[in-house]
Amino acid sequence: MKNKGFLLILLISFSFLFSLFYVNYYASNIYVNDFNDYEKIEVFNKYKDKKINVCYGTKFNCKKINYKLKGTVNTKRLGTYTLTYIADYKDAHLTKSKKVTVVDTKKPELVIEGSFANVCPNGKTENVKITATDNYDGDISDKVKYKIKDNKIIYKVSDSSGNTTRKEFDVNIMDNKGPTIILNEENIIYLSVGSKYKEPGYVAVDDCDGNVTENVKVTGNVDTSKKGTYELIYSVSDEYGNETRVNRIVKVFPKNKYKAGELGSKVIYLTFDDGPGAHTARLLDILKKYDVKVTFFVTGYNNNYNDLLKREADEGHTVGLHSYTHNYGLIYAGIDAYMEDLLKIQNKVKEHTEIESTVIRFPGGSSNTISRKYRTMIMTDLTKKVEEIGFRYFDWTIMSGDAGNTKDPNKIVENVTSSIKEGEPNVVLMHDIKSYTVDSVERIIEFGLANGYTFAPLTMDSPVVHQHVNN
Ligand code: ZN
Repeated sequence: MKNKGFLLILLISFSFLFSLFYVNYYASNIYVNDFNDYEKIEVFNKYKDKKINVCYGTKFNCKKINYKLKGTVNTKRLGTYTLTYIADYKDAHLTKSKKVTVVDTKKPELVIEGSFANVCPNGKTENVKITATDNYDGDISDKVKYKIKDNKIIYKVSDSSGNTTRKEFDVNIMDNKGPTIILNEENIIYLSVGSKYKEPGYVAVDDCDGNVTENVKVTGNVDTSKKGTYELIYSVSDEYGNETRVNRIVKVFPKNKYKAGELGSKVIYLTFDDGPGAHTARLLDILKKYDVKVTFFVTGYNNNYNDLLKREADEGHTVGLHSYTHNYGLIYAGIDAYMEDLLKIQNKVKEHTEIESTVIRFPGGSSNTISRKYRTMIMTDLTKKVEEIGFRYFDWTIMSGDAGNTKDPNKIVENVTSSIKEGEPNVVLMHDIKSYTVDSVERIIEFGLANGYTFAPLTMDSPVVHQHVNN
């Protein structure tokens, strides 16, 4: 019983296997040889579908039959496409599907141009141009990432398919430069007592960290209720601890207290610029002889006649301030530059006379146009500023002509005496560094005295003589 049953099972199994074999190899059917149901193709390559052989018949007797292909592959776009092969013959039907995936396996191109002389610790570089181009995504320069590792800077960029290009460079990583602080407006600010200090602002930029203006700390205090010099310190550090400090000086001056004087009916104000010089002592002798008081607008660059500053003051003349350097390019470059020069000559005069003079005359006068070459509107700003902080400037109403037009004392006498008028301020511009000017003075004094004029020095309360400001 046991053996019979076993044989039966064996027989059934054999029949089954045989029938399978028969169906596959001998029965007529529709089929495809060597069919691949999956394919990959690189983007932008041309897709050509492989011809397949659809057979009708047995394994040993194939009759080729036609088939239809449904579906397309767009190789310009990444993705998976389905192609379907359909064949019909007699009562047999065949459908076969194939997936075709369009892929991008090409790495993007990464081009780094420039020099890596200084690379900031945060990777910021100057003068480095980075471009990344991908065959499928196009320009992906904005996707480039970088990092700093050891002494290398590593650039990396990936396309949308995840293909990555890397480039690394040996670099010097350093940030030893502090931020740059730029103060708005002047570095020295001149104010009068009682005015308000308003911070003009500043900008701070670091080579590595960029704009760090908001990190700037300002220390120091300006007390505009008191005369004095105040210092404000602006400091800022970059991320790596490099500190920058700059300062601003605020000078608070006493307010203008004087009033413009009354116009005398018959007054002559002789003024002598650019000294003291070689002829000043002789001039002082002449003035002493007639007991005439005048105004000297002095300069500071010639130290040979310093003792005459004291003599001028001691003998009752006004020692006014002209300029320390008398260099237009220097003094008219800005308010700071002008004030520095002015305070220098003020100090020099004070040193020799113990007088803090505030009577001034601008080189070239307030109407000069030469200053335009160095800074526009400088005279507009300066004339306002000096008066605001306690100085008084004087121009002139009569030119003696000794500044170049003539070297003839007779002509100078004529120029002056023909211009003097009753009821006018009569401020005469002369230069005590010229001998021919000094030669003319005696006759001008005699003319004035003979015609009932008084000679007076300019003071803070003298009538204002201001020319038209042209710049
Ligand atoms: Zn001058």
